[in-house]
Amino acid sequence: MTRRPPKRFETAAMRAERLAQQAAAAAPDPLYQHCLSAVRRGMSEYSGGARRCRMKACKRARACVSDSFACLAMLRRPVLPWLEQHIAVDGMVQFYQDRAEQEAE
Ligand SMILES: [Zn+2]
Repeated sequence: MTRRPPKRFETAAMRAERLAQQAAAAAPDPLYQHCLSAVRRGMSEYSGGARRCRMKACKRARACVSDSFACLAMLRRPVLPWLEQHIAVDGMVQFYQDRAEQEAE
């Protein structure tokens, strides 16, 4: 016995709204990206990643100037585990949002 696939009841307006929500969710949040790179640069700084980094710009500047992927990828173990890194990033995002709210008042 074959089963028919379920009908999808979606109007054009619903479809447009769904696609807009998907696009908004997929778009990177600039504040979050900024905080993530700041935390990763801090971790690279803490571990002295620029000394053994493969990117010459980091060595020349004696600090991480890239997106710190190369600096942090050379480490044997991460400075912060994945979860704690995200907690730090979330805390930083929260801080900036709170400050923006206070300035708006
Ligand atoms: Zn580097």
